[in-house]
Amino acid sequence: MFSAIILPQPCLQVVPDLYAAQKVSVAVLRLDELHPVISGNKWFKLKHYLHEATQTGKKGIITWGGAWSNHLVATAAACAAHGLQSIGIVRGEAPPQKTAALADCLSYGMQLIFVSRTTYKQALLPELLWGCEKDFVLVPEGGYGPLGVTGAAEIINNTGTDYSHIICAVGTGTMLAGICSAAAPGVQIMGISSQKNNVQLEEEVRQLLPPGKAISFSVQHQFHFGGYAKHNPALLQFMNNWWQQTGIPTDFVYTAKTFYAVDALVRQQYFGAGSNLLVIHSGGLQGNRGLPPQSLIFSP
Ligand SMILES: *Cc1c(COP(=O)(O)O)cnc(C)c1O
Repeated sequence: MFSAIILPQPCLQVVPDLYAAQKVSVAVLRLDELHPVISGNKWFKLKHYLHEATQTGKKGIITWGGAWSNHLVATAAACAAHGLQSIGIVRGEAPPQKTAALADCLSYGMQLIFVSRTTYKQALLPELLWGCEKDFVLVPEGGYGPLGVTGAAEIINNTGTDYSHIICAVGTGTMLAGICSAAAPGVQIMGISSQKNNVQLEEEVRQLLPPGKAISFSVQHQFHFGGYAKHNPALLQFMNNWWQQTGIPTDFVYTAKTFYAVDALVRQQYFGAGSNLLVIHSGGLQGNRGLPPQSLIFSP
């Protein structure tokens, strides 16, 4: 086992009888509980990149993310645990006050390099790091790429096969692609986009799928609440209600929008009677530290 970190099996939690009227059952795969820092899907998406870095004797990992990125925090912590260096290229100028996420990154020894939004979009190595490619594994934002997909496919190991649908949040689409490549035939796979009008998303997911294999999936684009990392009082209220009804904490960027979508779609009878849904709780709770104090009745 190359990994310095061994995580427990995620727990499958059946949501209490909220949807008896619609005859739909919902089970939640609690990846948020796997590790306090390397939360949710991030460990899965990173593990093969870490493996590559250790196997090929690299110094560490260079990757990209925003000032509240779950991916940057997870990379910093995972690299520290594996004795690897980490460098994070951060979107936008350095904020006058460090976000809690960036403070975490620094505490795990990550070197942060801030680049303008335009430079960030080009996903090129900043001049400062020219020449470092040979010593580091470069991991695209969110772990997007074949190695990320291979890891993400392992998310649904040991979850059983009796689900009609598997539903997850979508950022880069790496997790969705992993689930698509590993799900049993006939299971319907649905992603809930956290972004507004990300019209390239389906194509970006398709590019990650094994060629020649007919895999179908769908993406819901109407549950973004104004866009990536945007929220409104209705979303925060949903998060608090959901916590009260199920005991499941959610993050406002991804999983709250996913559970909101599931709840809304079930109530609209989008899923037929007898449907058995598996929803992936992909973690991300650290990001709730970016909300105004007292927004939530559960702790981040
Ligand atoms: C990063 C993240 C996602 C998005 O995963 P992708 O593979 O980029 O689509 C979803 N949920 C949470 C909590 C995340 O942190």
